[in-house]
Amino acid sequence: GFKMGIVGLPNVGKSTLFNALTRTAAAQAANFPFCTIEPNVGEVAVPDARLDTLAEIAGSKSIIPTRMTFVDIAGLVKGASKGEGLGNQFLANIRETDAIAHVLRCFEDGDVTHVDGRVDPVADAEVIETELMLSDMESIEKRLVNIVRKVRGGDKEAVQQERLMKMAMDALENGKPARTVEVDDDDMKQWKMLQLLTAKPILYVCNVDEGSSASGNEFSEKVAVMAAEQGAAHVVISAQIEEEISQLEAEEAEMFLSEMGLEEAGLDRLIRAGYELLHLETYFTVGPKEARAWTIKEGTMAPQAAGVIHGDFEKGFIRAETIAYDDFVTFKGEQPAKEAGKMRAEGKGYTVKDGDVLHFLFSK
Ligand code: GDP
Repeated sequence: GFKMGIVGLPNVGKSTLFNALTRTAAAQAANFPFCTIEPNVGEVAVPDARLDTLAEIAGSKSIIPTRMTFVDIAGLVKGASKGEGLGNQFLANIRETDAIAHVLRCFEDGDVTHVDGRVDPVADAEVIETELMLSDMESIEKRLVNIVRKVRGGDKEAVQQERLMKMAMDALENGKPARTVEVDDDDMKQWKMLQLLTAKPILYVCNVDEGSSASGNEFSEKVAVMAAEQGAAHVVISAQIEEEISQLEAEEAEMFLSEMGLEEAGLDRLIRAGYELLHLETYFTVGPKEARAWTIKEGTMAPQAAGVIHGDFEKGFIRAETIAYDDFVTFKGEQPAKEAGKMRAEGKGYTVKDGDVLHFLFSK
């Protein structure tokens, strides 16, 4: 599955957000196996109304949403890259994530101490980013030393890695995160293997006060400008409200949201923003037993998409019977869609599209 790391300075609302995320997920656990893997790791359902629609049409007994993992990575402070506090362990945790949800304090509250004594989300973002950049520089320096001999020996991969490391280093030394480096498709695999922290996509999470969760505030507006400049994504959320909502029954929660002038829970927006940031898509498998959503990267071919369900599906892939979501809904089910000529048999070269309802045929 895909993993987002929640980072940010102390006291910005990371734990509050994480608790809200996992408690909401726990509340939905009737339908799917939720687990808090470790105290700071939780899996959440990706909200998708299409799944409910499909299940209703097919009369599916159970509904299983696709999931995303969140990791609360606490303890990132100024000096983390120098191993202050437990800095390096936290940085190692970030290395294992696919993307970063960077929580920024956009609320004023005299009772909650800010580590630097002022509310300034843009400056906070820079503090964290600087630590991540320093950490990347340090790890590249180490690896450049280690790779020298292989490069001298003419190892092609090592030569490629060295070139990419130098490209990253160039950017970092100019105060730019590694994600600003343009990487060719041919280099992408090796580039990813460098596992640079600042190469990971970022979603800024503006944690605003209760009153600003619908419209944002002066702080979140500054973050929006910064995010746009960096080509990063951002969402406005009130972690505290989300935590309160996560303790309500579904009906109460809906009432509460409409009173606040919100169309949907901020957590749903957050999860979906993460999904978009990672260029993820969903396909469905639908039957009388269950309707289920599966996550793939944009551009995934049918056999690899099948592999998300089971490795054998990929190995023995024969074809995918495919109905587009809209056709499934318009014609009200698999059989009528098939009769209307809307079921296609797709082979190995088919790129799965978001919303496809699939049925895989494979040899054992
Ligand atoms: P972390 O250190 O980043 O994990 O921060 P916490 O989630 O523990 O939050 C730190 C403090 O800020 C706690 O006392 C929270 O109740 C409070 N807090 C979190 N979010 C909000 C918010 O949106 N508004 C206000 N006023 N307080 C908040």
